[in-house]
Amino acid sequence: MVRDGGIMKTTAIVLAGGSGSRMNSKVKKQYLLLGEYPVLWYSLAVLEKGSRIDEIILVCGKGEQQQCKALFVDTYGFQKIACVTEGGKERYHSVYEGLKAAGDCDYVLIHDGARPFLDEAMLRRLADALPIWNACVVGMPVKDTIKIANPDTGCVQATPNRSLLWSIQTPQAFRYSLIRDAYDTLMQDEAAGTLDQKVTDDAMVAEYTGNTVKLIEGSYNNIKITTPEDLVFARAILEQQGEQ
Ligand code: C5P
Repeated sequence: MVRDGGIMKTTAIVLAGGSGSRMNSKVKKQYLLLGEYPVLWYSLAVLEKGSRIDEIILVCGKGEQQQCKALFVDTYGFQKIACVTEGGKERYHSVYEGLKAAGDCDYVLIHDGARPFLDEAMLRRLADALPIWNACVVGMPVKDTIKIANPDTGCVQATPNRSLLWSIQTPQAFRYSLIRDAYDTLMQDEAAGTLDQKVTDDAMVAEYTGNTVKLIEGSYNNIKITTPEDLVFARAILEQQGEQ
């Protein structure tokens, strides 16, 4: 693809600024060892190899910049990491820091560093869909029946049609200007005290400002490591991949 006579630039923002409090571990989950490497290493390795990724912005926790840079740039030698920046209180604050650091790019791909099993095929599907849709997220159809609870009684309020439900993952990819404008609006509304919903992914932010978001096939292996049992699954997936 061509922009102003040049190639379109895609920057990946990798989020590793969470506290990982549900992991019950002194070591933050992104630095926990999974096989030979820290959890965060795996997604960085896929993005480093990804032919359609030009640059990586790594968003780390407060006061972790030096440690993160030393580990992932100096020790592991990821060459696409252009910048290591500090995140914020909530995930969406960290994304905003990443977006500000990403600056001059055409497309941006936002990925949770706690999801080690994104893959090249997924990146290709996103890259193919992006010029058409400008806002694309990976996910998978849910396997369980999902209920909506009544917040007061704890009883079932509704059962949405399962065939329409997707469980959403990352990467989530956008035209930079679209998601930057959406986040600018979100931040202004938060500052004005008019933000009345919990923001848990980037698609929500794009939707917030009225954009259409395309669902793209992810993978059931693309789990997010949140609680200790997720590490057990992750080790099994890693082992299975090693056998292929
Ligand atoms: O908390 P949650 O599991 O939704 O976090 C998803 C990703 O966002 C993780 O990779 C985590 O490190 C990152 N995050 C962040 N800054 C925060 C909270 C979460 O970068 N304040």
